[in-house]
Amino acid sequence: MTKVGETVLEIDLRALEHNYLYLRSKINTETKFLGVVKAFAYGSDSIAIAKKLESLGADYLAVAYTSEGVALRNAGIKLPILVLHPQEVSFATMIEKCLEPSLYSRTIFSSFLKMAKDLGQKNYPVHLKFNTGLNRLGLGEKDIDYILGSLEGVDKIKISSLFSHLAASEDLNEKDFTISQLNQFEKISSTIISKLKYRPKRHMLNTSGIINYPEAQYDMVRSGIGLYGYGNEAAEDEKLIPVGSLKTIISQIHKIGPNESVGYNRAFVSNTSMVTATLPLGHADGIGRQYGNRIGHVSIHGKLAPIIGNVCMDMIMVDITGIDCMEGDEVIVFGKEHSGEDLASSAKTITYELLTGISQRVKRIYFD
Ligand SMILES: *Cc1c(COP(=O)(O)O)cnc(C)c1O
Repeated sequence: MTKVGETVLEIDLRALEHNYLYLRSKINTETKFLGVVKAFAYGSDSIAIAKKLESLGADYLAVAYTSEGVALRNAGIKLPILVLHPQEVSFATMIEKCLEPSLYSRTIFSSFLKMAKDLGQKNYPVHLKFNTGLNRLGLGEKDIDYILGSLEGVDKIKISSLFSHLAASEDLNEKDFTISQLNQFEKISSTIISKLKYRPKRHMLNTSGIINYPEAQYDMVRSGIGLYGYGNEAAEDEKLIPVGSLKTIISQIHKIGPNESVGYNRAFVSNTSMVTATLPLGHADGIGRQYGNRIGHVSIHGKLAPIIGNVCMDMIMVDITGIDCMEGDEVIVFGKEHSGEDLASSAKTITYELLTGISQRVKRIYFD
């Protein structure tokens, strides 16, 4: 591969294909697959990822906010798109762009129903979200009668699916809690289905749910992090391939004497002679201050170099003492050769935050 020459996020769509096929292999062939592409497809590029998922035969996409769905429609994406967390102000736009809302409260349900009526819709697809223990968003068992009552004799909207979200699908110490969520969902969803004249889809599992609770796959699964190459556990990380590789370059090398400081507020002071490299990426690119002061490492020619001192807005300095490298050489911040899981966990955070933090000013380069 040629030298990157500047800070870039390489996006490997072949890795996406591998991860998609791997996750599909965990579920039945009839089970539908929803690819979660919120937050710029976990910090990569929602349009490139959505197009690839469409070509791979994914059944559905999901985003968090309406504006993210609008961007996909404007780019020509035809797959059905579930908007997980819409607000009332965007309902007219949603209908105009054929985006399907998650209706998670009585307020949101009623106002969407009214909008569908005002705009003359018939059987507009909506998704009912139930809270089964995450206590974040969702209708409850107590809302079932209200929902069914509001739908009686009304054909403005049609319930395309019933779903819920697990609180701890990656944590097998919480298995009892997860099973109680699954039981709660089974109860709520079968009550509703028994009272409807048609059969909405049901879905419950995210990536770790697919891996740990495939028996609860119902009609569809919703995967995000796994598609991007991370599985929330070492055994799964081995099977998946990171889609994004954040790479940069050595801008300048300095020889530092004993008792010299590096960076703002003199947070690093050397006690011996050493060599440092300055790299053109900082907290404005998504490498936050928590990675500074020897917490995070980058990889240069296969050797790990710790970030020293405070992370600046547009730069970090790394200790390259003993690493054979020159100005202009390539640096891997994370990716296939230097796991984002290791980098994230070094700073006590998670891959989700590391990936989605890569800012829009980082150039994206694609491989397919
Ligand atoms: C983000 C999200 C997902 C994807 O979860 P992963 O752990 O990334 O697979 C699935 N469902 C809902 C409701 C979400 O908000």
